[in-house]
Amino acid sequence: MTPYDLTTRAARAGEEARPAGSTPLVEPIYQSTVYAFPDLETLDRAMSGEEPASFYYRNGTPNAATLERALAGLEGTEAALVAASGMAAISAALLGLLKTGDHVVADARVYGVTYALLAEELPRLGIEVSFVDACDPAEVEAAFRDTTRVLHVESLTNPLMTVPDVPALAQIAHARGALLSVDNTFASPAVFRPAGHGADLVTHSVSKYLSGHSAALGGVVCGRADLIAQARTRLLRLGGTISAFDAWMTLQGLKTLGLRMRAHSGNAQAVADVLVNHPRVRAVYHPGLSDHPQFHRAMELFPDGFGGMLAAEIEDAPGFVRALAGRIPLAPSLADVMTTLSWPWGTSHRPLPEGERRRLGITPELLRLSVGIEDIGDLLGDLEAALD
Ligand SMILES: *Cc1c(COP(=O)(O)O)cnc(C)c1O
Repeated sequence: MTPYDLTTRAARAGEEARPAGSTPLVEPIYQSTVYAFPDLETLDRAMSGEEPASFYYRNGTPNAATLERALAGLEGTEAALVAASGMAAISAALLGLLKTGDHVVADARVYGVTYALLAEELPRLGIEVSFVDACDPAEVEAAFRDTTRVLHVESLTNPLMTVPDVPALAQIAHARGALLSVDNTFASPAVFRPAGHGADLVTHSVSKYLSGHSAALGGVVCGRADLIAQARTRLLRLGGTISAFDAWMTLQGLKTLGLRMRAHSGNAQAVADVLVNHPRVRAVYHPGLSDHPQFHRAMELFPDGFGGMLAAEIEDAPGFVRALAGRIPLAPSLADVMTTLSWPWGTSHRPLPEGERRRLGITPELLRLSVGIEDIGDLLGDLEAALD
């Protein structure tokens, strides 16, 4: 047989060297846009969906499929769909369910970009949205119409950590034939599993606690198989596929979720307990403090802690941020293993008019802490030194 030309050998390099009889402990990253099939019958089964298989990157990689199985398992749902970002997942979930003429009820405190999606994008498609205080069930109920299809809330809100009563909201939505969608990003399934309390859809930015190290971007929507199938159709057509690398990175982070969340929750509670007694701190927002407006409901729904998020109004916030430089970075995201600070007034809530920000309790002195997993003595030492 004539040896192949170098061009041929180069194009096929590595393909003959697959190890047989050994399985890597860590799933490899499948960085391939397309998959090869041995015959038309196998390809036909893959295309019909009869046999789960990857065939083209945009339709999903093995890494994404592994992450979907893992996250559906953790949230206790039938199925999951991972996406390129939290926003891609939320968009696919809502667009999968809604059509022109439908109505949505949503908490006014939802994540800023989710708010913009609901307030500016859905109305362009003829979908109306009413914003409510999700902690007031009577207000939620009053906002429902005959055309309401979805109620969308967050299990812990940004940045003031309000805690809507998810079981009560599920009852309200179901009584009106609507679905309850819960963004569980701030909690993670390690401390709260909305599907177990009646939620139909559970979304996450996996860029936060699920991956946990500020190094991967992605999103997920978990729920019943038929709802996830509808969201998947939208996502694939809109092109919001997660990269194989980000799915793989998230899986590596996910392995320590339980340990991390225990540390985040314990540290955040300890930081809240210290800040609340400090003379330079005017207010602390954390569901584990007895003066939190939903303290009792929160303790009932979150027996394992609240994760690492809290907010505090601090005298001379700019000085506090400067004093922490080099130890606790000012970084407008959350859920890293190291503690970070963010400034809702100038970042997440910047698009809101000043009066509206103040009405919600967001002042220029309010800082949000994403409490990490550092040694609690070191962390409290840094915070107290900066306050003094
Ligand atoms: C970050 C975040 C999102 C958006 O996720 P991306 O991955 O940044 O697109 C949605 N909801 C909440 C609560 C978030 O914190």
